[in-house]
Amino acid sequence: MIPLMIKASFEDKSAPPFVARVGLESANNTAALSAELPDVHIYQYREQSFSVASDMGRSMNGDVIFANPATGTLHRWLRSGSSHNTLLVTERCDQLCQMCSQPPRKTHLDMFDHLKQACLLAEPCAQIGFSGGEPLLFKHQLFELLETVGEARPDLTFHILTNAQHFDTADVERLRLTVYSRVKWGIPLYSDQAAMHDQIVAKPGAFAQLMSSFALLAHSGQSIELRTVLLRENYSSLPELARMVSNRLPFISTWAIMQMERIGFARNRWADLFVDHSAQTAPLDEAVSIATSRSLDVALFNMPYCTVSPALRPYLHASISDWKNAFSSECKDCTAKSFCAGFFAWHATLADYERAGPIR
Ligand code: SF4
Repeated sequence: MIPLMIKASFEDKSAPPFVARVGLESANNTAALSAELPDVHIYQYREQSFSVASDMGRSMNGDVIFANPATGTLHRWLRSGSSHNTLLVTERCDQLCQMCSQPPRKTHLDMFDHLKQACLLAEPCAQIGFSGGEPLLFKHQLFELLETVGEARPDLTFHILTNAQHFDTADVERLRLTVYSRVKWGIPLYSDQAAMHDQIVAKPGAFAQLMSSFALLAHSGQSIELRTVLLRENYSSLPELARMVSNRLPFISTWAIMQMERIGFARNRWADLFVDHSAQTAPLDEAVSIATSRSLDVALFNMPYCTVSPALRPYLHASISDWKNAFSSECKDCTAKSFCAGFFAWHATLADYERAGPIR
């Protein structure tokens, strides 16, 4: 697993946090490598000097980091060469999804100035993700960030994961600004039935609000990646959801169907929530067939290659986050390993799936 947080020793631990790009040469906003010793790399950022273990130093060259001298940590916010960089806007959320991989907290730390600085330092043509919690609980700050960064960096694109509970008609004009044509909204929808969706996200009325947000986003020409996590509760009705998406949401860019992550709330509720799609392939097969026959772009995530029907394999994608990819020891001699999505690093086992195993 790629380390996203690195321990560091700072010369001045009382200095405020800062955002910088890690580089070899001194430049404005760069933490430049000043000494390369066998065990440690030493960097200089303005008046501040800090060191990290040399293997970590090598891996973070070119990254945009958030450095916090008080905690002795560097957070690799934008990893060089990665297309999977996501910035956390807030840990607050107004939903409490049963399988949430990043359970919300009540506290909020306003990091918008640092987030903006990180975006401005991003590599050319980078895609930057924003997630939470629910990022649009701070909609106006986020919109302001997108508009400022978008104007200064017209090469950047953005992906925002949101529950779409906070759009209103007053946003339509703003969403028509040019910068929003470079935004893709990742929006979860778990069922065609309002009661089931509301129960999964633990928020009465969430489905109705979502439908009204979809209409508003379509009206303002937004790009939407619909996201559905497979659960025991929604799996058998997946074909109905496919029909509903085809009929009512034909304007979406992509329908991402994904297996659950065994982390956050799902870790302790795994036995109740997890559905083995390899044991009952029909709902997934039928849903993909319905959606693709209506020309929807379908993408399957977090599903090992050997667990899906051959007809679905062209729709498989690697994990949404590259730093999570891992394989089971049983995968060693599998001929499909080079194009298999594998597993989340914290739960790399085939044991959850009835029909799985190396392809020879
Ligand atoms: S055995 Fe492992 S590498 Fe092969 S398809 Fe299954 S999960 Fe992927």
